[in-house]
Amino acid sequence: MKRIISDVLIIGAGPAGAIAGALLAKRGWAVNVIEREEFPRFSIGESLLAQCMKSLERADMLKAVKSAGFQIKNGAAFEWNGARTSFEFSDKFSTGPGTTFQVQRAYFDKILADDAERQGVKIYYKHTIKTAEVYKQEVRLIAKHEGKSLVFQARFVLDASGFGRVLPKLLKLDIPSEFPVRESVFTHIEDNIKENRFDRNKILITVHPKERDIWYWLIPFSDGRASIGVVGDKNKLALWGDAPGDILSNAILSAPTLAKTLVNAKFDMPIQRIHGYSSNVSKLAGPGFALLGNAGEFLDPVFSSGVTIAMKSSELAVDCLHKQLSGETVDWDKEFSTPLKEGIEVFKTFVKAWYDGNFQDVIFYQTEKKEIKRMICSILAGYAWDKSNPFVAAPERRLNALVEICSID
Ligand code: FAD
Repeated sequence: MKRIISDVLIIGAGPAGAIAGALLAKRGWAVNVIEREEFPRFSIGESLLAQCMKSLERADMLKAVKSAGFQIKNGAAFEWNGARTSFEFSDKFSTGPGTTFQVQRAYFDKILADDAERQGVKIYYKHTIKTAEVYKQEVRLIAKHEGKSLVFQARFVLDASGFGRVLPKLLKLDIPSEFPVRESVFTHIEDNIKENRFDRNKILITVHPKERDIWYWLIPFSDGRASIGVVGDKNKLALWGDAPGDILSNAILSAPTLAKTLVNAKFDMPIQRIHGYSSNVSKLAGPGFALLGNAGEFLDPVFSSGVTIAMKSSELAVDCLHKQLSGETVDWDKEFSTPLKEGIEVFKTFVKAWYDGNFQDVIFYQTEKKEIKRMICSILAGYAWDKSNPFVAAPERRLNALVEICSID
């Protein structure tokens, strides 16, 4: 069998894999990325958070992304039963970029992957990882390509395979997520939105008028198109129909303000569904491997934290791996898993509070307390690792206190 050797292997060329690859190549390591698909390929998850811009800058990819003409995103708008509120990322408490992009992932992911190649990473497209032997000093992966098997060998493997979850499955690391099984039904549309109040610079999150655990995203792109999706308990969504098209159209009709916004929309692409996407693992790193992005823990789409967490995981893992490959001792728990999880826990607190309705109450509450709004805004902009923000340092306690204030006033 043909054998291909490098310092590091990365499974998957999505945002986590591309960023990790570029950061490693920059430090002089030979990196092979093994990617199942050919790019561009469709992927869901189009609304970025401002924190991502820091990762892109560090990976020297900001210029390529900025010149692609993606829709600027400067915040998030929320709507429920006619109540509308919005957060401007520029008002955030944390320092750092105050804008980001809403991206068609097919093109965004290709830009990142091409840029990683420009920086010296080798990507093997249409190669699917089938087996993995992972040891402390050596890793061997077998990939299938056009019916043939190849062996990829390296000193370490980063699994950035997203929902493919290659190593969690092969090394039996999967554990149940804390979140219930939810479903999402979505597509891209020609939106034809004429409403003046609609702000193309923001993701619009609409909460279902009666079922507050059902919500919709509307993510406008720069070319007059948009991503639209509904998220909720699978059984509840099933009441709108069996076929994804029926579910999405009936779901939109039952949210009158959203239906009005989309009255002229042209649904011209297949409607897709995905469920059971929340996932977790028993450990994020072990001898010879670390899990990046969705291959580790995935929470929920509601605050668009997926790509941000993916990129942050790549940055943290590469810092550790560079040290380890250079001969230093690395405590992966202390230097990778723990700091990564700190930010994930912040998002998790807000996601839980979203679905139990408490955080929705906070969002739609017209607070005069500007400083608190700035702190919440920071989380919505992705700055979940900035411990100078009290809502990052003690998310549950702070959020519970805020929920209480909002329900008393
Ligand atoms: P991916 O982008 O999934 O990349 C993984 C790559 O690995 C793929 O290219 C795949 O082909 C490859 N691969 C898989 N298996 C193999 C194999 N066996 N061999 C080789 N290659 C393989 N996030 C946001 O930030 N904003 C959003 O608005 C948002 N909305 C979402 C909506 C929904 C309904 C869902 C489910 C998720 C959403 N997310 C969102 C999350 C986002 O999609 C992911 O967090 C993000 O894509 C993770 O990036 P990644 O690099 O870890 O994985």
